[in-house]
Amino acid sequence: MDLGITDRVAIVTAASRGIGFAIARELAREGARVFICSRSAENIIEAAYRIRAEVGVEVTGIRANVTSEQEIERFVAEVLNQAGRVDICVTNAGGPPASTFDEADLEMYRRAFELNTLSAIRLARLVIPEMRRNRWGRIINITSVSAKQPIEGLILSNTTRAALTGWAKTLSAEVAADGITVNNIAPGYTLTERQTELAEARAQKLGKTKEEILAQWAEQTPMKRMGQPEEIAAAAVFLASERASYITGVTLQVDGGYVRGIF
Ligand code: NAD
Repeated sequence: MDLGITDRVAIVTAASRGIGFAIARELAREGARVFICSRSAENIIEAAYRIRAEVGVEVTGIRANVTSEQEIERFVAEVLNQAGRVDICVTNAGGPPASTFDEADLEMYRRAFELNTLSAIRLARLVIPEMRRNRWGRIINITSVSAKQPIEGLILSNTTRAALTGWAKTLSAEVAADGITVNNIAPGYTLTERQTELAEARAQKLGKTKEEILAQWAEQTPMKRMGQPEEIAAAAVFLASERASYITGVTLQVDGGYVRGIF
């Protein structure tokens, strides 16, 4: 299938590693002109270099923190300056810390809302006018299965992802007639660097091995394994493609069957 995104201009935030990096690489493989950002200039330039070396196309890494209005404005301005347009925008960020109701104070909610809800809204406000002008656009928010099935001990993720999902559904209807689709990808347990670090920390706390913790997580999915970042990327790139032109307002879980509900 020809995905039809050769020469489309794509933004992927929080892409120096993990799911964001895998999506950026897959978009580059499909011939898109990709711009990526993360908080560290060194890491994002290195990530862009790795994709360029592997795929053989131009990828640009720019330092920007998704929680900073100024830095994200500068990032989008730089993309427009270099490429003249934005067609695809993948909103991704780091995850909020694990916590329960008793552990989370209001400041933690504010920070999580900035990181996982407002960051996507902020980006959309910058790119949608450009997409409207071209009457074509794809917004893909990376959320979590916690938006569909709240996860015990992750009250900040459960709250902020659900808020973003409500916003995205509303936005999808408002921009549909302009040729813009808005969808979410909800990853399940995916073997990224962050998950390996979390498994190590949890293993130390519980006196277990990292492998035991990873096996426990894998066991929770019907497929009995964790996902690979490339499996999330494949779904994201499809939603970003010309072929997904009649799909909007959905949350697609890529989770090996983790979510047990039927919607
Ligand atoms: P990761 O930690 O491996 O990568 C996160 C990336 O985001 C890194 O490049 C980091 O530099 C960047 N980043 C973090 N905060 C940033 C900020 N404020 N501004 C700019 N860049 C920032 O994480 P991941 O596992 O790839 O997860 C990506 C997203 O998917 C997170 O929101 C995570 O909660 C969510 N998610 C992950 C899983 C999983 O199992 N990996 C499951 C469900 C949801």
